[in-house]
Amino acid sequence: MNSFSYVRTDDVATAVHEMAMDRAAKFIAGGTNLIDLMKENVAHPSRLIDITRLPLDKIEETANGGLRLGALVKNADTAYNEQVEKRYPLLAKAILAGASPQLRNMATNGGNLLQRTRCYYFYDTATPCNKREPGTTCSAMDGFNRMHAILGTSEHCIATHPSDMCVALAALEAVVRVTGKNGERTIPFAEFHRLPGDTPHLDSNLQADEIITAVDLPAKGFAEHYMYVKVRDRRSYAFALVSVAAALEMDCDTIRQARLALGGVAHKPWRVEAAEAELPRGAKAVTAKLLADAKPTRENAFKLQLAERTLGAVLTEARS
Ligand SMILES: Cc1cc2nc3c(=O)[nH]c(=O)nc-3n(C[C@H](O)[C@H](O)[C@H](O)COP(=O)(O)OP(=O)(O)OC[C@H]3O[C@@H](n4cnc5c(N)ncnc54)[C@H](O)[C@@H]3O)c2cc1C
Ligand code: SF4
Repeated sequence: MNSFSYVRTDDVATAVHEMAMDRAAKFIAGGTNLIDLMKENVAHPSRLIDITRLPLDKIEETANGGLRLGALVKNADTAYNEQVEKRYPLLAKAILAGASPQLRNMATNGGNLLQRTRCYYFYDTATPCNKREPGTTCSAMDGFNRMHAILGTSEHCIATHPSDMCVALAALEAVVRVTGKNGERTIPFAEFHRLPGDTPHLDSNLQADEIITAVDLPAKGFAEHYMYVKVRDRRSYAFALVSVAAALEMDCDTIRQARLALGGVAHKPWRVEAAEAELPRGAKAVTAKLLADAKPTRENAFKLQLAERTLGAVLTEARS
């Protein structure tokens, strides 16, 4: 049993202050990932700062015609929000492809962005893992790595980011709003998560004392032509082997604009803007650019073909 203290905060400033006082503390929102990590002895926060009472539980219009999703809005409430369903159905579909109804009722938007990888070795404290303990080694590299990344990997880590919601947010070019002891700032979604490089213990560019307050969706929601498909080993309760989010703007049969993001293939949602420009040449050309730098292992090389086929199917659906 690891002992830890607990404090509940009512406003963002106090939450940030509490975190700045103790860098070994952790914010707790829905707890659906953090509590598991604590039970598995992977996370050992000295203190839990309960943020569930912070006033970040609303979905509101923004001045530029977009939508602001509070960090503490539950994943289920986000997916079933009338405005999200109507204007950002890609996001609703991606959220509903994740976890289970019970989990989505508990999990928050902020927590979803910061959930940790599902690499088996990361959860197994009997094996070395650079993400859990920097400078040990990566057990997945020569171990079971069928689920692991094929893009953006490093010699230190080949884990994937497990979120479905984040793949849609990448395609929609959302913006993450954060507050820290130096005030508020915004982080474009593409810059929020990191590739492992030689710092695989860091998943995002959020600073240690910062809290996510909201995720802003731009006005353009691609509500007419969109699709999210998640390919997994079983229909329920499984993380993506490969997932694809597509958001298209069509002019009759012509694609005017396309946003494509892949999940299950990298340490962050994978988007290559140059690949989107290849769309007039067909799905094969797009995939060739998207997967150009792939470095699969023997066990997960199947993801290359799976990504190509899923992308082709998703584009057909999204166009229609
Ligand atoms: C069995 C199971 C299956 C799952 N399947 C899927 C799936 O298929 N697809 C998918 O996308 N997800 C899946 N999930 C993950 C689930 O979506 C996440 O656990 C959930 O979104 C995390 O949200 P939370 O509020 O519970 O976060 P918590 O567990 O409370 O926190 C997670 C992390 O985020 C930090 N944090 C939380 N909120 C903030 C904030 N506002 N600011 C700064 N830091 C914060 C915490 O300190 C912690 O480090 C699954 C989870 C389980 C247990
Ligand atoms: S892939 Fe990353 S998380 Fe998994 S064992 Fe290697 S270092 Fe750890």
